[in-house]
Amino acid sequence: MFFFRRYATYKRFNGNTSSSSYNYLQVLTSRKVAYFAAGSIGFYVYNLHEAPYTHRKRFIWIPYSLEEKAGDYSYQQIKEQYQHQILPPSHPLYRRISSIMNKLLDVALTGENSEVPNAQLQHLRNLKWEINVVASEKDPPNAFILPNGKIFIFSSIIPICQDDNGLATVLSHELSHQLAQHSSEQLSYKPIYTLLSILLCTITGVPAVRELLTLGFSLPASREMESEADRIGCELMARACFNPESSIGFWQRMSQVEAQAGKSWEGLNQWLSTHPATSKRIHDIQSWMPELNSIRDSAGCNHYYDFQQGVRNFFKY
Ligand SMILES: [Zn+2]
Repeated sequence: MFFFRRYATYKRFNGNTSSSSYNYLQVLTSRKVAYFAAGSIGFYVYNLHEAPYTHRKRFIWIPYSLEEKAGDYSYQQIKEQYQHQILPPSHPLYRRISSIMNKLLDVALTGENSEVPNAQLQHLRNLKWEINVVASEKDPPNAFILPNGKIFIFSSIIPICQDDNGLATVLSHELSHQLAQHSSEQLSYKPIYTLLSILLCTITGVPAVRELLTLGFSLPASREMESEADRIGCELMARACFNPESSIGFWQRMSQVEAQAGKSWEGLNQWLSTHPATSKRIHDIQSWMPELNSIRDSAGCNHYYDFQQGVRNFFKY
């Protein structure tokens, strides 16, 4: 999810501090500003939606079309950057990943999911899903799904996944970010952070305001998003007959790789910076296991059940 986090820098404002503070005060207390503030609060409250599982209130106003456009823009850039490293659909790794992803998409989009609004499920069903496996041993392990349904997975994450359950952990987690509308949420807050930081930066003259805002609001929200993606992802794994308990091993290995790599892999650190501590993540998954085991049992996951039957192919190959 690194593609939305690009920080702008602002130049310090060197005006006459006392008179400019007075002018700002006049502007801030004017009637027009009061109307604008009241309208903004109304717009904010009207667009508050409940997040799945944690049930926290979050602000989402970005229409699907704009979200897809943002996805298309990132897609063009990433595709251009890695165009010579994308594996063909005939490659065994592509086939393995598409088989797992088909199972996860099948349970996520065609099954019952009371926590995800119907409009969101319908929107995701209509996307043109695509898998891009990037052969890249030197790049940090990474995987993400753009809001237009384009999946990117770097081959450097495969050894950490170890097996299909590990791959299902990564893919279900990333798919869950889309089910929980986390891209829309990030995009919805972005103009607010930008406006607030420009305003506060201009008033206070402190260029680091933007970073403080990010630390104060954005990171804690991201950590809640991570927990939601973990919970939904584990449930998808159980419903698609993978073993959600094996995701504990994946997160432990990921954390070890991060510790070994230190600061040399900036991208990896960025990917993990908003992720919850591994110990909390493992504790959460263990506490969900009794419920996840019963979900897996009700999905009929046994030796005689062939999940492949009836699974729709979401990809054109
Ligand atoms: Zn995540």
